[in-house]
Amino acid sequence: MLFDTHCHINDEAFAEDRQEMLERAFAAGVEYMLCPGTNLETSASAVQLAHEYTQVYAAVGIHPEDAASVPAEAFSQIRRWIVEEPKVVAIGEVGLDYHWPEPVRQVQQEVFIEQVELAAELDVPLVIHDREAHGDVVDILRRYGKGCRGIFHCYSGSFEMAKELIKMGFYIGFGGTTVFPKSHKLKDIAARLQADRILLETDCPYLTPPPYRGKRNEPAYVRFVAKEIARLRGRDEEAVQQMTMENGKRIFSIP
Ligand SMILES: [Zn+2]
Repeated sequence: MLFDTHCHINDEAFAEDRQEMLERAFAAGVEYMLCPGTNLETSASAVQLAHEYTQVYAAVGIHPEDAASVPAEAFSQIRRWIVEEPKVVAIGEVGLDYHWPEPVRQVQQEVFIEQVELAAELDVPLVIHDREAHGDVVDILRRYGKGCRGIFHCYSGSFEMAKELIKMGFYIGFGGTTVFPKSHKLKDIAARLQADRILLETDCPYLTPPPYRGKRNEPAYVRFVAKEIARLRGRDEEAVQQMTMENGKRIFSIP
């Protein structure tokens, strides 16, 4: 059984066939899914999907790409979802993305800090998006997120940084990029990292693993990530599925 810990199943890419896509996931053995929000609208649709499907849990938050236009009520709404909705199990996805010049870094940082402080206060995990911003993300977590835990989704740092993050209370999410033939660094990390901090994800509809690379990604394909990690670690696939399932339920406090 599989846990896709990061899937945008609320994305408009699935508008035409969401039900069929989810049925393919269930048939592929996906037992749990975590759908993160990126702004108030997609957070609301993630919460809605968590209401509709027992297998779906939600995270709510403002993504760095949406940091320039945050409505005044955003953080009180995020707080309300966390407090009132039992299947809202994390704040995310939040973080920093320095790949593009906009929104400017200071704006991204302010929105991230606000949500890190909220996670610390409400004692919920963070789902972190960190693109080309490792130093500042870790810095903000250390300064504003005392005791914070969570996930670095679609991990792109070094092995040494991953070990440091684990010490801080974080888990490491591996997705389709782990399966790409040229991802040597990521494969090495997936092979060596301590077993109880590894999570599987798709980040669908993006980052589709082989053999479907180039097509739309969906949670059913998380099995290809499990298969690759099993190969890298010399374990059987079932053991990897079970270990990552237990890890996912632990970080999100799912009974
Ligand atoms: Zn994402």
